[in-house]
Amino acid sequence: MTERTSLPGEDFAQALISVVLPAHNEEVGISHAFDVIGRTLDDCDVRWEIIAVDDGSQDQTFAVVSQRARDDSRIRGIHFSRNFGKEAALMAGIDAARGDAVITMDADLQHPPSVIPQMLDAWRGGAKVAHGVKRQRQHDSAATRLRAWIFNKTISWLGGINIQNSSDFKLMDRVVVDVITKQLPERRRFFRGLADWVGYRNVEIPFDVAERSDGEGRWSLLGLVELALTALVSFTSAPLRIVTLMGLLTLALGLGLTVETLWSWFQGRAVSGFATMILTLLIIGSFIMISLGIIGEYIAKIYEEVKARPAYLIDEYTDLDTKIGD
Ligand code: UDP
Ligand code: MG
Repeated sequence: MTERTSLPGEDFAQALISVVLPAHNEEVGISHAFDVIGRTLDDCDVRWEIIAVDDGSQDQTFAVVSQRARDDSRIRGIHFSRNFGKEAALMAGIDAARGDAVITMDADLQHPPSVIPQMLDAWRGGAKVAHGVKRQRQHDSAATRLRAWIFNKTISWLGGINIQNSSDFKLMDRVVVDVITKQLPERRRFFRGLADWVGYRNVEIPFDVAERSDGEGRWSLLGLVELALTALVSFTSAPLRIVTLMGLLTLALGLGLTVETLWSWFQGRAVSGFATMILTLLIIGSFIMISLGIIGEYIAKIYEEVKARPAYLIDEYTDLDTKIGD
């Protein structure tokens, strides 16, 4: 791995660019993705490597990747022991990357390779991170767009980090890659958030989300909810504050009700309101359960971090001893 703080201008021609492709059941499109991305990088006059991380595919993705890796040593493959999720696949690719800059993008070519030259220009201009920002998602269904909107809004509102329209399509300089791989010990990562959190000189590069080359998106609703929870819990303690707020709210309600009851009692009126009592019980009960749930979410994350299990397990590499560029 290259150790340096910044690359002298004239060395950019010698720069090695790593492209990380997380891939889950992408046997149909991945070979084409290698071709298009490789051609784009050739046109940019840079040395490159593409690292495909097969995230426990059930299809022949890794066989395709291995075949291509045999024919071209610039293509490398990592095979997970099972499906660990896109975040883990991204991290594995970034860990394995040897480039002076690392580009992360989807294997289904929904992140258009035609944007790569702009990212490289920004990098040569001194940017340490180039964020690909989705311009619009006109190809997605209304439901998908709504889902993405709720997801991004919730996180930016609660987490205080802006990931509206953000994507995993990014270029990171080696400096940032080293920070993310070596200085952030947490295991459950939310890549998009971290790349924003590190700071450094960064630029946003708008792009149009392309249509998927085959089939449907690979995210299930449950997967998205889990990602949202990881994102929230790893970036903010705001939900815990909501628990406190709910407690204060219930206290205020209780005090109001006490005053009202005492008042009625002094007036000589019997305290009525069986329905009120049941409703109060139900409301308070649900507040308590939601609060426990929120606290539980944090405890679960703490537990996961304390267990310190690896974020992914690698079954196989295509190139245990291949060296790029020599
Ligand atoms: N992906 C992955 N692991 C998963 C799900 C998805 O590595 O468990 C990869 C997938 O192969 C693709 C990228 O993540 O390269 C984005 O997935 P997808 O296209 O399904 O999501 P969307 O385009 O809807 O964000
Ligand atoms: Mg996609």
